[in-house]
Amino acid sequence: MNLSSRTIAILIALLVAGVLTAYARIGPTLPFREAFLAAGVTVAACFLLVYLSFEALIFREINGIYAGLEHIKRKEFKKLSSKFLFRPEPVKRVRDEILLMAERRQQELDELVRLQALRREFLADVSHELKTPLFAAQGFVHTILDDEDDDIDLATRRKFLAKAAASLDTLDALVQDLVTIAQLEKGVVRMRRQRFDLVALVREIFELLEQQAARRGTVLELFPPTLPAELLVVADRNRIRQVLVNLVDNAIKYGRDHGRVVVALVEGSRGVRIAVRDDGSGIAPEHQNRIFERFYRIDKSRSRESGGSGLGLAISKHIVEAHKSTIKVKSTVGEGTTLEFKLSKPKMGA
Ligand code: ADP
Repeated sequence: MNLSSRTIAILIALLVAGVLTAYARIGPTLPFREAFLAAGVTVAACFLLVYLSFEALIFREINGIYAGLEHIKRKEFKKLSSKFLFRPEPVKRVRDEILLMAERRQQELDELVRLQALRREFLADVSHELKTPLFAAQGFVHTILDDEDDDIDLATRRKFLAKAAASLDTLDALVQDLVTIAQLEKGVVRMRRQRFDLVALVREIFELLEQQAARRGTVLELFPPTLPAELLVVADRNRIRQVLVNLVDNAIKYGRDHGRVVVALVEGSRGVRIAVRDDGSGIAPEHQNRIFERFYRIDKSRSRESGGSGLGLAISKHIVEAHKSTIKVKSTVGEGTTLEFKLSKPKMGA
């Protein structure tokens, strides 16, 4: 039975009054009216006495605990003040407070465990990614060094050295991407916003990736074909260049041979939507959100073979979000993939 101090006080008061009234009625044979009045006064007096002494006692006992709790709470949750103190039912409130705190602690613990698992997974991924090109370079260099009798001819040596150099370049790109992502996640990278022409930037990127596209027979196109001479946006040009190089590079890599990669620039009232579209094999729905995770690859062997660090889209997502936009993927398996985001236009008169 869970009785409050108020109920207990009423019960005791009724009991005491009942006993006293019965005694007064039987003993000195009080008239009924006086006996009734005496009963009422006794109930009220007993109730107040018992109730107040209960409350006062409980307060004295638990005030210490309660003050301690308030102290802990104030340290973390400054908004909680003394408004809870000196109200009835302190035991129930202390219990509620303890439960609430325990619940919060549990949530924090769960979050820590989740972060710890992510950290472990990230470390495992990083060491795996570093190991692959490092061991390859090490292998080629040692093969040449161990060839004391000069069995390997000059041309093969040069080929091995070129392969070692290519592996070291991959390693260098990976370490640079890791540094970039660490800085973006720490929030120490400031976006240097400036006005620049998006059409010129896309043409520059097409020139940069021209040879890579030609190797796969891919055609690079700007849409719509009749774009204005310039399309100004306000953003960090170098960072947006990094995003677009990554998106166009992926579109060539994962697009089909002799396919088409289209960069569409659509001017809206407040900003410009930039979409990079390919006609490759597409991305199944279950992978669509995951491709922005660090080191997530759909086809592990194929992506690594093509030299990607697996960090390109994770970095691109951070950069786009630092421009208060979001990067979205739309894809149909067998038809192709579009990745898009928006950039702000300069304010009128700015
Ligand atoms: P990677 O260096 O492996 O290309 P990214 O972060 O750029 O790393 O991309 C992550 C993964 O997303 C890729 O490994 C690939 O599986 C998938 N992906 C990215 N872009 C496309 C695309 N246009 N079409 C199909 N899959 C893509």
